[in-house]
Formats: sequence, structure tokens, C-alpha cells
Amino acid sequence: MTAEILDGRAMSAEIKAELRGEVRRYVEKQGQAPGLGIVRVGGDAASGVYSKAILRMAEDVGINARLEQLAVNTSADELRALLVQLNNDQAVHGIIVQMPLPAHLSQRMVVATISSSKDIDGISTRSAGNLFLGLPSFLPSTAAAVMEILERTHTPLEGRRVVVISRSNVVGKPLGMMLLQKNATVTICHSCTTNLAALTRQADVLVAAAGRARMVTDEMVKPGAVVIDVGINALPDGGIVGDVDFASVREIAGAITPVPGGVGPLTNVMLLKQCVQAAWQLAGEKKKFKTAALR
Ligand code: NAP
Repeated sequence: MTAEILDGRAMSAEIKAELRGEVRRYVEKQGQAPGLGIVRVGGDAASGVYSKAILRMAEDVGINARLEQLAVNTSADELRALLVQLNNDQAVHGIIVQMPLPAHLSQRMVVATISSSKDIDGISTRSAGNLFLGLPSFLPSTAAAVMEILERTHTPLEGRRVVVISRSNVVGKPLGMMLLQKNATVTICHSCTTNLAALTRQADVLVAAAGRARMVTDEMVKPGAVVIDVGINALPDGGIVGDVDFASVREIAGAITPVPGGVGPLTNVMLLKQCVQAAWQLAGEKKKFKTAALR
């Protein structure tokens, strides 16, 4: 069997087209574009590339995004003051803070300060709590991207066994909650899981998000399974590979996301989608414009 390739770029283009229409409707009704504030403190080259990619994509769909670049030695009070200013800015509907922060700044402070109504990457305790309780919430965008792929490819989840390799706050834990809401039987694996392969071989849907290059090999995959590869791993030669050994696994899986070109292209678009949703909600409209996990 050669797996169907699940094309994240094509899905991302589809969602961007939907978003442009939604932004147009928002502008017609509200007289301003949805606004996004991106906060970056210091930052390496990779996070610079990431900020530019979001700015470009936001402009492409009509969202007014601006980058607040702070010096690496910014104090906690200065960062908090900027977040409060963005919370109160009526032209800003979504706020994201690029991680990791410099060591002297705590993620906890950021999580506690960002207004939950503008928390479009689902990092606040309120968003996480709502998700845990099965209530509508903003979602961590990578986990939301995985759900969007499963939804758009009509992958059955109810009663199916889904194995997620990750218990991180941005991928494994939120994804586990979303999959439970879709009535899947979910197994969360992590670095202390014993006999991982015995578990992954039972998966109808296998999600790999460990950050370990090509760790999922063909003998860990049930024939016909849907394999979603979240990993982004840089190789010494400059190449990028996922957590799945694509060459061998594509011969046994039913469907598989490539890296690059799978989950990655959907992550930013899901963030922008939630920014537009936040803008509608702040305007007092509960739009039925929702991510797959909330449908
Ligand atoms: P993370 O916080 O380091 O989490 C990794 C998770 O995988 C942890 O739960 C860890 O277990 C588990 N793990 C690590 N090695 C394992 C092993 N050998 N066996 C089983 N479980 C193992 O990383 P993250 O931020 O969630 O990111 C994960 C990967 O996704 C990275 O490659 C990252 O670049 C990529 N990513 C991609 C996107 C995208 O848009 N496609 C977005 C975000 C992240 P413990 O909890 O026990 O440590």
C-alpha cells in the first residue's frame, strides 16, 4: 500500500480563501480590519522567520498585524505593561507572544496577563480550562491544525483508537481533549512510556509530536493507519524532517502528512482563523466560524 499524502499546503490555501471572505464581511460590518499583536522579546533567527511568516499571511488575508519587538533585556514589568496596553487596544483582537522567552521572563506571567478574550493561541488557564471542560475555547493552534486536517479529510474518529506521542501543553494535552470530544479512544504517550511501538501499532490514527527525527518507523504503524506528523526537526545538512520516517511509513499507512507541507502550513492559518473569531466575539457576535475541534 502507498499512503495518500495529506496536503497541508492545499488545505491551508482553502482556509485562507475562507478567511479572506470572513475578513471582508467583518470589515463591512465593523468598519475596521481584525487586528493582531505579535510580541517578540529578543529572539533567534527561527522566531524571526516565524514572525515574518505570520505578518505576511495576516496581510494576505486582510488582518492588520503588527510586530512589537522588545529588547532581550526587557523587564517583566515592561512586558506586562505592553500586554496590558494590547489588552486595552480596541484595534487589537488577538495577541500572541513568541516562545521561548528569555530566561528572566516567566511564561506564567504572560499566561496570566493576556486577556482571555484575545488569547488566540489558547495559552491562558481560562482557555485550557474551557477546553478541559468541553466548553468553547480558543485552542493551541498546532493542536487545532491537527484536528482541522482530520476533519477536512473526513477521518473517522468516533470509537477509533488514536495514539498521540506527546503530552506537551501546546500539542499532546490539548489534542487529547479535542479527540475525546470527538469520541475517540485516546492514548497519550511520552518519554517515559514503555513499549511505545506496541501502543502505536494499535492506532487507527497516530499523531507524532515528540520532536525526534524519524522516530516512528514502519514497524510501529498499523497497516492503513492515518499518520499525522507534527515534528519539525532540523538535520545537520540543513534539511527538515518530521518525527515519522516518511519513506518507510508511507508504504504501510493509509494516509500521511509530509514534512514540510503537512501540519506546518496549517498552524499559522489556524491562529489567524481564531484571531478573526476573537474579533467577531469582541464585536458581540458569536459567529459560527469555528475550528474543527469546536464544530
Ligand atoms: P515538547 O514540549 O518538547 O514536547 C515533546 C513531547 O514528546 C513531550 O511530551 C515528550 O515527553 C515527548 N517525547 C519526547 N521524546 C519522546 C520519545 N522518545 N518517546 C515518546 N515521547 C517522547 O515539544 P513541542 O513544543 O510540543 O513540539 C514537538 C514537535 O513539534 C517539535 O518537533 C516541534 O518543532 C514541532 N512543532 C511543530 C509545529 C507545527 O506547526 N508543525 C508547531 C509546534 C511544534 P515528556 O513530556 O516526557 O518530555
